[in-house]
Amino acid sequence: MKHFLCYEGWELIEPTILELQAKMREAHQRSRYIFDLYHRRNEISKELFEFCLDQGYADRNLIAQWKKPGYERLCCLRCMQRRDHNFQTTCVCRVPKNLREEKVIECVHCGCGGCASGD
Ligand SMILES: [Zn+2]
Ligand SMILES: [Zn+2]
Repeated sequence: MKHFLCYEGWELIEPTILELQAKMREAHQRSRYIFDLYHRRNEISKELFEFCLDQGYADRNLIAQWKKPGYERLCCLRCMQRRDHNFQTTCVCRVPKNLREEKVIECVHCGCGGCASGD
């Protein structure tokens, strides 16, 4: 596989890509924060929780995944899609640490450092 620096034009799109990545990371953290407040810490009401979802402060679809076994730590919906990934059928960040060769990774989709449930 070629390194991305080998591709002409990468410098042009890099700032935007990095910015979008940061935003995705942020979106994940925001969803997690709101999820924890409601589901784990019981610090906000269902009404406020629903309001946050309606306003887009948290990702409703992502949060729905967190309630499923094996997806408690899912970083983003893209990473669970069974295509567009070069590590078998799922994103490398979904592969448990003990099953993957590189121990330290950063997901190319969202910068996730690993979100398999057992890690
Ligand atoms: Zn991940
Ligand atoms: Zn990933």
